[in-house]
Amino acid sequence: MRLSKTFVKTTKQAPADEVSKNAQLLIRAGFIYKEMAWVYAFLPFGWRVFNKIAKIIREEMDKIGGEEIHLTALQDPEVWKTTDRWSDQVVDVWFKTKLQSGKDLGLSFTHEEPLTRMMKKFIQSYKDLPAYPYQIQLKFRNEIRAKSGIMRAREFYMKDLYSFSKDKTQHDKFYEKIKQAYFNIFDRVGIGHLTYLTFASGGSFSKYSHEFQTLTEAGEDIIRIDEEKWIAINEEVLVDEVLQDLWIQKESLVPRKAVEVGNIFTLWDKFSRALGLTYKDKDGVDKYVFMGSYGIGLGRLMWTVAEVLSDDKWLVWPRAIAPYEFVIIPIGENASQRALEVYTALKKVFGNEIVLDDRAVSPGFKFKDADLIGYPYQIVISDKTLQQGPEVIEFITRATGQKQFLDIEHIQQIVSN
Ligand code: ATP
Ligand code: MG
Repeated sequence: MRLSKTFVKTTKQAPADEVSKNAQLLIRAGFIYKEMAWVYAFLPFGWRVFNKIAKIIREEMDKIGGEEIHLTALQDPEVWKTTDRWSDQVVDVWFKTKLQSGKDLGLSFTHEEPLTRMMKKFIQSYKDLPAYPYQIQLKFRNEIRAKSGIMRAREFYMKDLYSFSKDKTQHDKFYEKIKQAYFNIFDRVGIGHLTYLTFASGGSFSKYSHEFQTLTEAGEDIIRIDEEKWIAINEEVLVDEVLQDLWIQKESLVPRKAVEVGNIFTLWDKFSRALGLTYKDKDGVDKYVFMGSYGIGLGRLMWTVAEVLSDDKWLVWPRAIAPYEFVIIPIGENASQRALEVYTALKKVFGNEIVLDDRAVSPGFKFKDADLIGYPYQIVISDKTLQQGPEVIEFITRATGQKQFLDIEHIQQIVSN
């Protein structure tokens, strides 16, 4: 990618109404664009980060048997009425619209109802279970909660997987698997060390649900963490019974601010009962399908990584989700030809992970942008390094600040480790 070819520019100033570090940095670095309050568009670099996160999530979901689908954003009120969730009194985040005929339609804020109805077409016998469809789809929510440091959007992508099991035993096995898959995801995007499995209310149908909460002052939730046991409790379930259940002493709990990056939910037969999703068991008896739902907000995950890994001045990305892994910065008259050669050579090895800053701007400007954008590796080619020999490249590892003078072969060795 040649920077001279992109339409995106970095800016010195973020919108005055953005208070959080992650929003300011992501907007200034040109990763996202603020369309209006709580509605953000992705620009090329941000969209690459988004897609790398999506790829990691897909890999982890596929590994445990997930099958990717794509449901519709437009919602049929009839199916939502069967669970009483069409009512604005029950669900206060609906965006609703109308057909030209006057008939009501909704924009999806989640997908349990339409998916459960759809699965009636495919699940009849115990042999059809379990099933684990998931999607990465837009959700629309007319959010009214207070604004926080980690952005809460009114239109956002969620990975939502729904499990359809024979019974609680089959469900529980999967529940443990997806818990582990979630930890893998948060590890791979670089926030595993800050993310706690948090016991939360199971709503009306289950004792607990589990949230995955990442510690940050910019979060809007308060959780109580037990560092030794590496679990946390949401304020809403902080009662003696729960502490006993989890073998936790109240004194060992520390309150911390956090943001919910994902959650997993046991739904029992709430939706299958309401919508009549049954299967015939081995003995010929009709039973309700046992369900669960499992969400991760992709945008929120990206903002959280930006918030907790970055410093005040610039973004810091783990390699796995950096927009590009390398930036090449040529400085001086003679450097541009050599930079182009290095660019071509590195591209052969690392693919489309290299940015060549071939813009006609000052070196200082290029360095500032490279720092702001947060490429894991910076490669500087200047008349000075060229004097040391035509093969020599200045190679800076952002995470450590280490500066080395290497040839391409050595760079390859270091980076592949
Ligand atoms: P919250 O308590 O933060 O509103 P929620 O309980 O409404 O979250 P779910 O409906 O279970 O969350 O959604 C699953 C995941 O989707 C959340 O864990 C979060 O990562 C993400 N998410 C939820 N609401 C938003 C939003 N308004 N903007 C961005 N991501 C969101
Ligand atoms: Mg919510």
